[in-house]
Amino acid sequence: MKITRITAVPLSYRLPEGKTVTMGIGSTLKRDAIIIRVETSEGITGYGEAHPGRSPGAIVSLVHNTLQPLLTGLDATDCVGAWQRVHRMQLSSHGLGAGTCLALSGIDMALWDIRGKAAKMPLYALLGGSRRRIPAYAGGISMGFQPAGALAEEAQSYVAQGYKAVKLRIGDSASNDIERVRKVRAVLGGDIDILTDANTGYTIADVRRVMPVLAEIQAGWLEEPFACNDWASYREAARISALVPLAAGENHFTRFEFALMLEARAVQVWQPDLSKSGGITECLRIAAMASAFRIPLHAHSSATGLNHAASLHFLAATENAGYFEACVSKYNPFRDMFGSTFAIGADGCVEPPGGHGIGVEVDESIFDKYPLIDGPGYVVKF
Ligand SMILES: [Mg+2]
Repeated sequence: MKITRITAVPLSYRLPEGKTVTMGIGSTLKRDAIIIRVETSEGITGYGEAHPGRSPGAIVSLVHNTLQPLLTGLDATDCVGAWQRVHRMQLSSHGLGAGTCLALSGIDMALWDIRGKAAKMPLYALLGGSRRRIPAYAGGISMGFQPAGALAEEAQSYVAQGYKAVKLRIGDSASNDIERVRKVRAVLGGDIDILTDANTGYTIADVRRVMPVLAEIQAGWLEEPFACNDWASYREAARISALVPLAAGENHFTRFEFALMLEARAVQVWQPDLSKSGGITECLRIAAMASAFRIPLHAHSSATGLNHAASLHFLAATENAGYFEACVSKYNPFRDMFGSTFAIGADGCVEPPGGHGIGVEVDESIFDKYPLIDGPGYVVKF
């Protein structure tokens, strides 16, 4: 079974006027997603999701013009071979590493979908897991900067749905962040896991002010206080409090960057994203590396049901799996465009879908509803 064609379909959705969510990286204007379709000589078609990297047109061009010629004709079940070929020819040199990693992630996910469909097995079983229940936190683009009372109310609404963990956006001013996290803890009580994400918006000075309060409210983690390559700040922040682990990974690409994370000895919660970090093939390697150091893997999730379903399969087959990031974004039509892929239970858990491969029935007729809008997805006030 050979790869015969690889297609990338960019999708965009502009948020309604005034409905932006503000976080450490800016205010959301639109959502973008890229669906990858891989066709084979035996008629099996696999689907994956590639993160758009804030430049969806560029990723689509990489897939069509650079990676497709490298992979056409290769055995469609040879995920390791495809990965190795792209790494050797494009990912490892000449400066398009991260972009190539996003594009490759979607292709790799589609190849695993093909493997599952060919074997007539759900992906979790193919990966060696079971259809077990996986704890989920309310995440996605939600719980942004807003008055503390309104934020607590939003968080409470997810707890009412069954979530036992919620993720708050911090990375605003330290005083605003402190007021918000204290308010949410007071309203939710002691039993809910409160996670925090600064989206690279902090300085070390901010962390010195906020970290003692995160320890006081027993936050589950502080995610991405700094830019992905600012290892000096990560190491410094890890010394401020051992009670709140630092988390990162959604902006770290391939096992080689996770190895740097390991060497920094500062990030105790890893968050690779199947549509960004190098696909399922690479995330299996990252998970194995983390497991040897008892580092839990809380997969970061992106826009569509394909990534959400693939993440559930992956977590169901990972020994050191942590939370599934359940997208509770109010304005993400891509989450359910192929039907719902997860449902939160009263136990705060979700399950991977059944079916063969990723288990998502892709209806391509829906793509016309979301034509590409190139340009920035976030605005920032400097
Ligand atoms: Mg994040």
